[in-house]
Amino acid sequence: MTDVQLAASMVVDDARLLDLLAPDAAVERLGGGAAWSEGPLYLPDDDAVIWSDIPGKRVLRWTAATGEVTVDREGVEYPNGRAVDGQGRVVECSHGERAVLRLESDGRTTVLAAGWQGRRLNSPNDVVVRSDGSVWFSDPAYGITVPGFGYPGEREYGDNWVFRVDPEDGHVTAVVLDVEDPNGLAFSPDETVLYVSDTSASGAPTGTGNHHIRAYDVVDGRQCKNGRVVAEVSPGVPDGFRVDGLGNIWTSSQDSVQVFAPDGTRLGSVPVPEVVTNVCFGGSDGTTLFIGTPTGLYRLATSVRGAGLRAPRTASVTADA
Ligand code: MG
Repeated sequence: MTDVQLAASMVVDDARLLDLLAPDAAVERLGGGAAWSEGPLYLPDDDAVIWSDIPGKRVLRWTAATGEVTVDREGVEYPNGRAVDGQGRVVECSHGERAVLRLESDGRTTVLAAGWQGRRLNSPNDVVVRSDGSVWFSDPAYGITVPGFGYPGEREYGDNWVFRVDPEDGHVTAVVLDVEDPNGLAFSPDETVLYVSDTSASGAPTGTGNHHIRAYDVVDGRQCKNGRVVAEVSPGVPDGFRVDGLGNIWTSSQDSVQVFAPDGTRLGSVPVPEVVTNVCFGGSDGTTLFIGTPTGLYRLATSVRGAGLRAPRTASVTADA
């Protein structure tokens, strides 16, 4: 297998997919060495991607300038998904600490959420930061039930929910209670819709469990209403996904990156040589889709910018001038 796999083998269900991919789009392996990768995040200030090796208890880094993969942090408590906030700080899920953490510029760590109404969280899996500074995260139990992905533990509140951390007072509120195993999540470009994936089919007997993405109307920036299924992902599960600036959903699956229109129409899929665990948009112009797989990181050139991407701080000064 070469390092570059042409996307010619992609499945086109709707011609709109062709407009979303760069003309020379190919899935290119950038590096790896992980036991199970998750949580890719593009850092605009560094022109780099960091991601979690969950069982390896470390964070890896791919740097565009050198093309090399290095170890960013070791001895991390089973990290999973992450996002960057409006001030460029990384917000990260920790299975081991059963918490959502913010990494401060001076090296300290701030706990944003570790419990709800006096009970511990399960194992925060993926997280997004809204433009108002609120932090929204999924809390399935994989980190307390799957060997090697955390420490065995109890579901102290007895379910698997999505929570919101208030940007003003830090209060943690349950916002989505009707997803069996909430996992990936992302906002629509205008942040009026929150998408949440349900990966309960993973580990369940064949033919049982969910493998879909649900959509919720975000009311007053703090409540989720009118939940409905917008996309069924198969084969595999939509562990993680991102939305582009046009509102299309780019999701992981067992064998490919699958693309859905905002109304849920499947546009097609681009095969990847491994299971896809999660994706993120990035690159200097925000149009590169970085693809996490169990062992490593790949990239795919698209023609659309990811929704809600933050520009490098140096570039944003120029743009504001
Ligand atoms: Mg996940």
